[in-house]
Parts: sequence; structure tokens; C-alpha cells
Amino acid sequence: MMRTVVAAMTIAFAGMSPSMTHAADAPATPAETQALDIAKRAIAFRSVAGPGNQTPQLAAYLKSVLVAGGFATDEISITPVDDTAYMIARWPGTDPKAKPLVISGHIDVVEAKPADWQRDPFTPVVENGYLFGRGATDMKFDAAIAMAALLQMKREGFRPRRDIILEFSGDEETRMKTSALIAEKLKNAEMVLNIDGGGGHLAEDGKPQFFTWQGAEKTYADFELTVTNPGGHSSAPRKLNAINQLSAALVRIGNYRFTPQVNDVTRTFFVEAAKHKTGAIADAMRAFAKNPADEKAIAVLAADPAYVGQIGTTCVATMVSGGHALNALPQRATANINCRIFPGVKPAAVMAELSRVAADPAVAFKDVTEGSVPNDASPVRADFVAAVTKAMAKTYPGVPVFPSMAAGASDSMWFRYHGVPSYGASPMFLKESDDFSHGLNERTPVANIRPAIAYYRSLLTDLSR
Ligand SMILES: [Zn+2]
Repeated sequence: MMRTVVAAMTIAFAGMSPSMTHAADAPATPAETQALDIAKRAIAFRSVAGPGNQTPQLAAYLKSVLVAGGFATDEISITPVDDTAYMIARWPGTDPKAKPLVISGHIDVVEAKPADWQRDPFTPVVENGYLFGRGATDMKFDAAIAMAALLQMKREGFRPRRDIILEFSGDEETRMKTSALIAEKLKNAEMVLNIDGGGGHLAEDGKPQFFTWQGAEKTYADFELTVTNPGGHSSAPRKLNAINQLSAALVRIGNYRFTPQVNDVTRTFFVEAAKHKTGAIADAMRAFAKNPADEKAIAVLAADPAYVGQIGTTCVATMVSGGHALNALPQRATANINCRIFPGVKPAAVMAELSRVAADPAVAFKDVTEGSVPNDASPVRADFVAAVTKAMAKTYPGVPVFPSMAAGASDSMWFRYHGVPSYGASPMFLKESDDFSHGLNERTPVANIRPAIAYYRSLLTDLSR
């Protein structure tokens, strides 16, 4: 969905001036030229859910590029699902017994209304160092660069030990039906690199600040609360009123705080992020990483919208309705409670806890979640951490690399649901002010191409061994 993971997180890296390993003005290599070409062509396909969805055509185009680059035709499948399609391409490894390394992405995009954009969203344009167009950030450019890197590795005669599988879902931005199907098919994978998650942050002056890889995400859930009464004439009120009962329960839930939690990913995140913060927030991060029951630390982090979601499950009322006439006692009142559940916690347990907090048997609870499955944090695997740290050190020397947990959902959820470790590991660096994924005038600096290709070659070489 969104490629940035730590939204609103601004870390001051005083005195840091990492140098790029490559001169920006060296002529483009064939892989770099190809990456931009694929990205531009991909943006021109209107791969938006609904009538005229060109995701199947885009998949066919990408397949043709892979076949031209040496992939066997029968190693690439495109499977239509409703108005969309998903693609799975396999580069066979030398060891048939080794479990595959999966590169995961999506090729659908969020709807874009041309009238609202400064440029046509489906006409790619390179201007002022940026590639503009729907999907420039989320995530056709990422997909194009990963493909160009793979094809360069093929040209160079690289032979992976384990299969490298490149898969693109076709409805990640909407129903995630293809995402679920792909994960089901590939649940034997050794590891998934989700190139739609994680990423680097640039300061507003363009300097790389830090890179986070995504090792966990919250589980999304919706619970519907309902109170029903016999109703009656509003001139003859009764003690029990569905709206009042529901309101009282919502107030109790609103005042409730779930027990704060920490896992390996968030503990490391807080320890690393604290190094670049000062004052109360830095102290709170350190203290919370050490002891998630530290009340003083919890109070500081819970008061900050950037971190409240990082310290445990949160639930919040998002919709409410009730009554059927101005002059009648309400027969029904309902509310939706939206929860972002800490990895590893089961939605049923959260619903039961909310029901206890509501403390009124008249309030009925129902899980109405759609398109989401519970998932645990991925383990902090030493082989992945070593490979991603090495790849970053080669391309952005001196830039800190650490894990993060996303508050939103991505295709990783479907793999983690099957117990497959999945890591958001996109090498794209963006300024916060340039992050227009899902929004208007989406754009990404083309200067990302060179380091990103070098990063992928390093990472994929190490992890497919
Ligand atoms: Zn995305």
C-alpha cells in the first residue's frame, strides 16, 4: 500500500554527510536505461481496479521483458482473477532442494483522476530529476528496477543456488485476493523480500538520512458493536436506551489502554531511533525498549501520534449510527471499532478484551474484518540483516540501517500468516515532502536507479546462495 513505513518520523542526523559511491554523471548502464524504460511503459498501463483495468496487459508486457531477458516462457505464469491478474516468474536455482527466495511486489495502482493532476497520471514524464506518474512511488518504478537488476545478473551469468521467484500481485491496493492466492502458492518459500515496504529517507536537502527494513506490521481488524432495544414512543422513555448503552460502552473503550508490548523489531527500532533523538522522547524510547511496562516512557510515547501505534494494540471508534426516527426510542445502535493489533495477538482475543471493557452484556460484538489475516512479526534473521546491511553499506555508506514495524498492511501479511519470513526491503530513498503514494502528482527521483540496482545485485546474490 504505502511504501514508507515510519511516517512522520523525522530523525536529525547531525553532522552526517554520506557520500554516494557512484558519480551521478557517469553514463547510464544498459540496466539503468532498461529500468527507466520499463517503469515508463508500466506507468502507461492503467492498472486500476474496475472497468478497463489493464493489469493483465501490464503483466503480459512484463512477461515479454523477462522472456527477452532470458527467462523461460514456461517459468512465467499469468493468472487472471476477476478483472485483474497476477504474475509469478521463476528463475530456477542450481539446487532443486533449496527453498525459493521470493521477491514480492504489486502492479496495480490506486485510482488517479487526470483532472486533478498537473500532468496526466498515466503518461510518464521525467522532469527535474523525477519520474512522474501513478505508480512512480507505489510501486511500478520499484518493480522495474528489480527486474532490470535481475536481468543484468542473468546477462552476467549469475546462477542462484535457490530459485529466485519474482511475483507481482494485481489487487494489493484493493481486495488483496491475488495477494492471498500468491502467498498460498508460495508458502514453501525460504524468505520473501517485499519491495513495496521499507525504504530510505532523504532529508529535505536530499541527503540520505536512514534506511529501515520492515519486519512486522500491525493486523487490521474491524469490530461491530450493536445494542438492540424493543423501542417505543419517545414520550415514554425507559431506563434502557440503545444509544445511551452503546455510548457508555464506547466511552469505556475510548478510555482503555491495551497493555503495551515490544518485540525484537520494535525493540531494535526504539534503541536505534533513540540515538538520533534528544530529550524526553529519546529517554522514553530507550526506557521502553528496556522495559515495556515503564509508565513514564509509555506516557511519552503514547502521546505522540508517530509512536503510539508502535507500542501496542490500538482500537478506536470510527463509525457510529443509531435510531430510526426523531420521535422514537432507538431499536438499534451500532458502532465500528477499528483496531491495529500488535503482531502475534489474535483478533479474537482483542475482541474479547473489548467486550470485557464494554462491561455490558447488552452490547453484542461481531468481527466484521475484511481482507486481512492475523500475522506475527518476522524473526530478525541474521542472514537477512547481514545481507541488507551489506547492500546498503555498498550503496549508501554510513547510512544507519534498522528495522521498523508498519502500521498499515502490505502483501507481507499473507506470507507471515503462513509463517514465511517477509521483509520490506525497497531501496528507494524519498524525501518526506516527496511521498505522494496514493496521492496527486506521484513522483520519485530517478537518481534512485543506480544505487538501487547495485543494492539488488548485492542482496539477491547473498540471499539466493
Ligand atoms: Zn504499494
